[in-house]
Amino acid sequence: MSEHRISASGSAEELLKKVRVVLVNTTHPGNIGGAARAMKNMGLSSLYLVAPKEYPADRAVWRAAGAVDVLDSAIVVDTLEEAIGDCGLVVGTSARGRRIPWPLFTPREFGEKAIHEAKTHDVAVVFGREDRGLTNDELHKCHYHVHIPSNPDYSALNLATAVQVLCYEVRMAMLTLAEGKEPHFDDWDVPPARHKDVEMYFEHLEETMTDLGFFTPENPRQTMTRMRRLYSRIRLDQMELNIMRGMLTAIQNFVYHTNKKLEKQQKEP
Ligand code: SAH
Repeated sequence: MSEHRISASGSAEELLKKVRVVLVNTTHPGNIGGAARAMKNMGLSSLYLVAPKEYPADRAVWRAAGAVDVLDSAIVVDTLEEAIGDCGLVVGTSARGRRIPWPLFTPREFGEKAIHEAKTHDVAVVFGREDRGLTNDELHKCHYHVHIPSNPDYSALNLATAVQVLCYEVRMAMLTLAEGKEPHFDDWDVPPARHKDVEMYFEHLEETMTDLGFFTPENPRQTMTRMRRLYSRIRLDQMELNIMRGMLTAIQNFVYHTNKKLEKQQKEP
């Protein structure tokens, strides 16, 4: 068994601290307060606010009721990257299907997976704007998507209500674990790569594919989205990521030296 794994025998409740709620660009401060309350009811405490429209705000405090401690410790950041960079599992929420479907969890599967993975690394669940949810770019930064199977004719829940449903599932999974009845997931010997390292990998991959002449940034089509989805399904571990980065560097060196040689040959009479 690898060292990075923390025994579940500690307090299962402690794991709830490792599951963070990320609210992106929230318009109504009341929803931020409502989300804080929903989290505290379920024992979660880590809240990240990405560029909230109006915050701090009295309305947030009012809706938080007795959960102002969650609000007080909320971390406000400018970008989604800052909120999820150090997480090993990132899950995006969506009220509707998207053009390129992504690996999908039910809320229950999400709760189980979040608690299981919280033993080894931080987990983020990301919520979108009240009026238009998360952008495709934001959703493509997530390993999985989760959809609350609501009425298809009226599928969007209020933001704080959606936070409530998913935090409830996380709590249920924690209680199941505390009873020693954890669902089985395959264990892995190396921790997953952190979000920010995978982002750097994508930059490197795009650069290498461009160097190779395989990818044209002026005409990207859906290539990088599809590559992101491929790697989301695989979820590189830290060692695999290092191997892949090393290979990309070797390819770039090879392309560079081959081009140099060609240039030289062309110049020679
Ligand atoms: N009109 C928006 C709805 C946004 S609702 C849209 O079409 O996307 C605000 C946020 O609440 C969503 O971004 C999502 O984070 C969450 N949410 C609402 N309903 C949901 C559902 N059925 N499943 C998962 N998340 C949901």
